[in-house]
This record gives sequence, structure tokens and C-alpha cells, in this order.
Amino acid sequence: MATQGFERGRGAAPGEGEQAWWFVWRARELLVVSGPAGQDDGRYTPPLVVGTQMGAANPRQPLVIGYLDGVPCVAGLAPDDAPLPQGMITRDLRRLYDLLDATTYSLASYSYQIAYWQETSGYCPVCGGPATLNEADWGRTCPRCGHIGYPRVSPCIIVLIHDGGDRVLLARQPSWPKGRYSLVAGFVEAAESLEECLVREVREEVGVQVTDLTYISSQAWSFPHQLMVGYTARHSGGEIAIDPAELEDARWFSLDDLPALPPPLSIARRIIDGHRARRGHQDQPAGGTWE
Ligand SMILES: [Zn+2]
Repeated sequence: MATQGFERGRGAAPGEGEQAWWFVWRARELLVVSGPAGQDDGRYTPPLVVGTQMGAANPRQPLVIGYLDGVPCVAGLAPDDAPLPQGMITRDLRRLYDLLDATTYSLASYSYQIAYWQETSGYCPVCGGPATLNEADWGRTCPRCGHIGYPRVSPCIIVLIHDGGDRVLLARQPSWPKGRYSLVAGFVEAAESLEECLVREVREEVGVQVTDLTYISSQAWSFPHQLMVGYTARHSGGEIAIDPAELEDARWFSLDDLPALPPPLSIARRIIDGHRARRGHQDQPAGGTWE
């Protein structure tokens, strides 16, 4: 998480008249203002305002999630039908990735997960009693039966399969933009290691065996709560046989002739670009978009 100048922390709501960064979500979209001076320059920030300026978009349960250069950052969900304050619009976070700076983008993801957790964890899943927020972390404890719940984080593996040379195996899901291919990915199951998950997912989705699993990097992905764990792996046997319930196609591509790829923000794209660079390809393939 690129969060220069940000310190995670829990604090009291900002005082009346105290400015804060308001990361407010309405109908799953972030409230933003355009340009520091309100001019539409194609760049956005969350509003830096006092609470009363949020008007009807004031979150139902605002929470301070930390401090950006000392300024409180407030997260919360506004009612889906709340009218927007003057000069504010809402945007899907995935479409803001190159319109917010990296720190703000990471904070927005974080704010969404915490706000969503706050909204959906009010009652104990065991006994149905009201659960209260812990003092020291984001867990919620049921005073009646003692159950503690925490914001959900779901690990997923994502893997670039290569042939030891200049070919990579990319796959495509039917819901993706036309022509786009990307890496094989899947959720870790209960009591499974990341490596076991990787080998299983690759076998299930594209029918091949892999070896030389190499960890590359990870990325939190708040749609809704994944932790993507990125690897490369070398093909060691088997022909491509896709799972048609998951994929529309999978095939080998030369690193010199790649199809449309995911956008640069995504870990998939970073792994592909990193692999190309390690193989001596200096140029960058064209950027994809979320559309
Ligand atoms: Zn309970």
C-alpha cells in the first residue's frame, strides 16, 4: 500500500470546524471533488472539509481510520439516495486509479473496506446480539457470547505461467473487455497453502502443471476484500484445457506479441511488465483500461 504521509490509527471524530479528508461512499462510489481549486482538471481528491459541509452525505457511522500528514481521514457510507454536496460527484474507484495519487487511492481502498465492515458487522453472527467495536483494532466483540469478528481479508493467488523462454500462458474470462487476456488467479481454500492453491488453480483452470513457483509481490484489492499474492511459475507439463465455467480461452503468447492487457495499476499487469523486463524487453506494452 503506497501511503506516504499516512499513519493508520483510530481516533475521535474530528471536532466541529476541524477539517478532515472525508472518504465517503454512496452506492459503492467514492465522493470526490475535481481539482484543488474546484476546477475540472480531470484529477480528483476526496473532499477536505468540515463535517457539516458533507450535508446529507454525512456518513451514518463515520470512523477515523488514520491521519494524512496529521489531518484526520474519515471513512463511512452515506445513504444511497443522499443528495451530493455542492461541487462533489461520485466515481467508481476502479475508474479513478490514474486520477487520484497513489496514496489517496490506497486510502480510498482502505476506507471502503473499513466502512463496509462497520456497516455489515453490527450484529454477532453466532447469537445475533449487538457487537461492539474493539478499543484497539477493527474487530467487533459480542458482549453476550464473546465472539470476535474482524474485517475480512481473502487471499488469492495470481500467477504468470511461462515456458522458461519467451512465451507466457494468459487466459480470458468472458466478462472481461473484448480481447483482454490476463493471469490465472483463484481464491485460497481453507487449510491450503498459497503454493498448493497455485498448483490446484492452474490445474483446474487451464489444465497444466507448473514448477519453480516464485513469489513476486502482493496487492490489496478492495473489490471487495482480496489480498492478491503474485507469483511466476514455469510450465512443467500438460496441454491447455480450460475450465469453461471459469474461462473463455487460454493460450500461449510471445512476449513480443501480447494481447490487450489489464491496466498498469493491477498486480497482473505489474507481474507481466516485470517478467518482460527481466526477459530483456525494454518497451512497455500498451496500457489497458477498466472499460
Ligand atoms: Zn454473540
